[in-house]
Amino acid sequence: MTHTPVRECICCRTKAAKAELIRIVKNEEGIFVDRTGKQKGRGAYLCAACLENPRSAQKRPLDRAFRQKVPDKVYESLFGKEQ
Ligand SMILES: [Zn+2]
Repeated sequence: MTHTPVRECICCRTKAAKAELIRIVKNEEGIFVDRTGKQKGRGAYLCAACLENPRSAQKRPLDRAFRQKVPDKVYESLFGKEQ
């Protein structure tokens, strides 16, 4: 039996296989998309639909996930782009 790790999108709460979600990581270098899935730090998962929709940023899902006020410029750099 294969176990597929499942994670929840922090924005829309949709559950999906970990591999289908995009990992956002927070570490000493900042908050950024972790393409490798191997970056150290606190991770949060977003589905592509949420990340590509600039309106998702208005819900400020990363503030909740990382328990801090995430600057607007971080949201602008991450959301509303083709993934
Ligand atoms: Zn989502």
